[in-house]
Amino acid sequence: MKPPRFEYLAPVSVEETLGLLGDLGERAKVLAGGQSLVPLLNFRLVRPEHLVDLNGLAELNGIREDDGHLVIGAMTRQRAVERSALVRERCPLLAEAMPQIGHVQIRNRGTVGGSLAHADPAAELPAVVAALDGRLVLRSARGQRVLTSEQFFVAYFTTAAAPAELLVEVRLPMMPPRTGSAFMEISRRHGDFALVGVAATLTLDESGVCTASALALTGVGRTPVVAREAARALVGVRPTAEALAEVGRRVAAAVEPDSDLHASREYRIHLAGVLTRRALARAAERATGAP
Ligand SMILES: Cc1cc2nc3c(=O)[nH]c(=O)nc-3n(C[C@H](O)[C@H](O)[C@H](O)COP(=O)(O)OP(=O)(O)OC[C@H]3O[C@@H](n4cnc5c(N)ncnc54)[C@H](O)[C@@H]3O)c2cc1C
Repeated sequence: MKPPRFEYLAPVSVEETLGLLGDLGERAKVLAGGQSLVPLLNFRLVRPEHLVDLNGLAELNGIREDDGHLVIGAMTRQRAVERSALVRERCPLLAEAMPQIGHVQIRNRGTVGGSLAHADPAAELPAVVAALDGRLVLRSARGQRVLTSEQFFVAYFTTAAAPAELLVEVRLPMMPPRTGSAFMEISRRHGDFALVGVAATLTLDESGVCTASALALTGVGRTPVVAREAARALVGVRPTAEALAEVGRRVAAAVEPDSDLHASREYRIHLAGVLTRRALARAAERATGAP
C-alpha cells in the first residue's frame, strides 16, 4: 500500500518545529528515521494530515557529556550511538544494547528519539533508559518538561508526550565506579524484536557487597518494567549464585506478560527469571573489573 495523502513539512529549526506542532496538534506527525512510522503510514494505520520531517534539525543530533550525564539528541541515529567511543566508555549498558536493535540498516536510519517515542514494549532503548533512571526531555512552544521513564511510558505504543510536544533529548546518568552492567535478550532470530530482554546494573563496594542494583525488562508488559523490589533484595549482600537466583525468582513471580503469537506468557515468565539471573551475574563480574 501507499501512504494516504499528507502535506510534507520540513522545518529547519526546533523553534519552527514547535510552532508547527503547536498549530497543527493532532493533525500532524513528526518523522524521524521513518523505520516504524513509514510502515504505519503504508498500512494506513496512521493518517496524519501533515508530516513534519525532523531530519533537517541538526540541533537534535549528537552525543555529549554534561554534568555527570550522557546527553543524546533525539535525532541521533542508533548506529551513531552504537559506534560512539563516549557511549562505550561512559554508558556500557547502552553500548551493549544497541547492536541488539533490529539490523544495521535499520539502525542507520532509526533514531534514539524515534525508538523512545514509538514506545514499543519489546524495544531495547526504553528498558535501558528505565534501568539507568534516565530523563526524557520534552519541548513544546509553551515550555519544557523533564520526565522519568515511568512518567513517559504510559502503555503499549503510548507515551505521555502531547501532540504538540517534541522529545528533544534523553539524559542518562553515568554509572558510578565499581558498577557493572549487562543487557541480555532472547529473540527468535537475530534482528527480531526481543521476546524478553533484561537491562541490569550492579554496584559493589570495596569488599564485594552490593550497594545498588537496577533492573528493567522489555517484552513482559505494556511498558518497560522496572523490577525495583527484586533488585533491592541484592543491596547489602554479596552477589552469590544463590542471591542472583533468588532475584531471578522474584522477577519471574512479579512480571505479568501476555501471550502472543511469538511466545506464551509462561515462556516469557521463564525467560524473565533466567535472563535476570544471567544479566546480573555478568554485571557482577564486570563490576569487579572483568571485561
Ligand atoms: C524490520 C525491523 C526490525 C526492528 N527491530 C527492532 C528491534 O529489535 N528493537 C527495537 O527497539 N526497534 C526495532 N525496530 C524499530 C526501529 O528501532 C525504529 O528505528 C524505531 O522504532 C523508530 O525510530 P525512527 O527514528 O525510525 O522513528 P519513526 O519511525 O520516524 O517514528 C516513530 C514514532 O515516533 C514519533 N517520533 C519520532 N521522533 C520523535 C520525537 N523526537 N519526538 C516525538 N515523537 C517522535 C513519530 O511521530 C512516530 O510516531 C525495527 C524496525 C524494523 C523495520
